[in-house]
Amino acid sequence: MNREVCNHCRAAIVWCTTAAGKAMPVDADPDPNGNILLGQPGPDGRPTAGVLGPRQQLGARAGGRRLHLHHRLSCPKAHLWARDPATAVRGRRR
Ligand SMILES: [Zn+2]
Repeated sequence: MNREVCNHCRAAIVWCTTAAGKAMPVDADPDPNGNILLGQPGPDGRPTAGVLGPRQQLGARAGGRRLHLHHRLSCPKAHLWARDPATAVRGRRR
C-alpha cells in the first residue's frame, strides 16, 4: 500500500477507491473502530475500499481481518477539508 500523509495533520493515510469509484482517504493503520475493508490495489495502485455494516464488521474481525477508519473521522483538522460538507459528499462543483 502506498502510504501518504494528510495535507492537514500529516498523519499517515492511504488513498483507496470506493465501489463508486471515488477516492477516499483512510488511516494507514487499522483501527479497532474501523469499518472499511481494504482490498487489492487496482490499476491506479489504490486498494479498493469496502464499507462494512455492523454485522459485516463482526464477521471480518472474527476472520482476522483488520479494518480501517475513514481519515475524516480521526483527522483533528477535518473541518478544513471542505467548507460545505453536504456539497463535498455529493461531489458537486460550482
Ligand atoms: Zn488529517
